[in-house]
Amino acid sequence: MEVEIKQLLADLQSLDQSLPDPSLHASLHKIQSRVEHLANLVKAEPVRRSKVQDMSTEVVDSNPYSRLMALQRMGIVENYERIRDFSIAIVGVGGVGSVAAEMLTRCGIGRLLLYDYDKVELANMNRLFFRPDQVGMTKTDAAVETLSDINPDVVLESYTLNITTVEGFETFMSSLKNKSFRPSKQGSGVDLVLSCVDNYEARMAVNQACNELSQTWLESGVSEDAVSGHIQLLIPGETACFACAPPLVVASGVDERTLKREGVCAASLPTTMGVIAGLLVQNTLKFLLGFGQVSPYLGYNSLKDFFPTMQMKPNPQCSNVACLTRQEEYALAKPERDAAAKAKLEAELPTEEGPLHDDNEWNISVVDDSEPEGLDTRSSDALPEGLTHELPTADAFQKLPTDAPVTDNDDLEDLRKQLEAINSA
Ligand SMILES: [Zn+2]
Repeated sequence: MEVEIKQLLADLQSLDQSLPDPSLHASLHKIQSRVEHLANLVKAEPVRRSKVQDMSTEVVDSNPYSRLMALQRMGIVENYERIRDFSIAIVGVGGVGSVAAEMLTRCGIGRLLLYDYDKVELANMNRLFFRPDQVGMTKTDAAVETLSDINPDVVLESYTLNITTVEGFETFMSSLKNKSFRPSKQGSGVDLVLSCVDNYEARMAVNQACNELSQTWLESGVSEDAVSGHIQLLIPGETACFACAPPLVVASGVDERTLKREGVCAASLPTTMGVIAGLLVQNTLKFLLGFGQVSPYLGYNSLKDFFPTMQMKPNPQCSNVACLTRQEEYALAKPERDAAAKAKLEAELPTEEGPLHDDNEWNISVVDDSEPEGLDTRSSDALPEGLTHELPTADAFQKLPTDAPVTDNDDLEDLRKQLEAINSA
């Protein structure tokens, strides 16, 4: 851009010198000064905020975290600032992964590892996040460029690689194991892996890595017709892994690459992808900061606004060897888990009855909503003087007297005979 503007200025300069008619100089000088102004705008550095040392609760317009830290004051999160300790790996920086990355960046996540082998294309512009001027850049580099501008506090790592190749998988594994960001962390170097890929082969690669590392991960997906999606929590050994219940088409031995047809592509909507990314990051925050519940599986059917949930136990005959090892470990640790759960339950039991809060700033009192004895529960049916109900109330209607005479066929026969007698008289 800068080069083009310089060239344009040089052209205007030579035009100025070669102009025979002096009356044209004024308008040419006007154009020159406007182009110079443009050149200065291009040269100006984009305004970037400096890094923040601590997340402050101070409510001022210049604090990027005041509204997030307010979650503590509202009693939703105990310690929001812990988010800076966490590392999240996002595999696939497409329609879901890029939006998830932006949300986590704006939430002030400690570190993001981004994996994708693809480049930004104009065909991606129906989704959120990437811009037309990023076409041709790798998705991970373009994402790092945007995200570092939004929040310079986040440590960003860009991995342009294909995790389904041998080399890519090895780099993927070693990057997950790297604990230099938080050396004291147990297990791998990341707290959660988010799978935002669009094919089974890549999901199986994430599954393999997470089973080997005993790494909890969240899987996400959007259907080919763009109107439904899901997220799923996978805890190796505890819940079904991705190989425990493979999709039918894969279980039948069909290679998914043969399913693609020339000139036919999957549909995608920024709306569905945004919803799935939102659900994915919402559950990531709940998982990391320990509030609410993380659903084992949450579906989204946009046509009916239906959100099904379900749970899947691991398959003892899973084809993935690492999954079976994790299942064994999980079964062996059962007594330990039971004891911990019991201790937690006991610790939570109230020791003595008493008010939950000592202070009562707003003088709130609890009203006894049980009905006093002898009160007519149908008093709401009472009418002002002079009015009567035309129809019985529902209660009265149901209380038909049980000894009322029941008309049966014999009585009808009697009546018929009486009528005939009257008529013949
Ligand atoms: Zn499995």
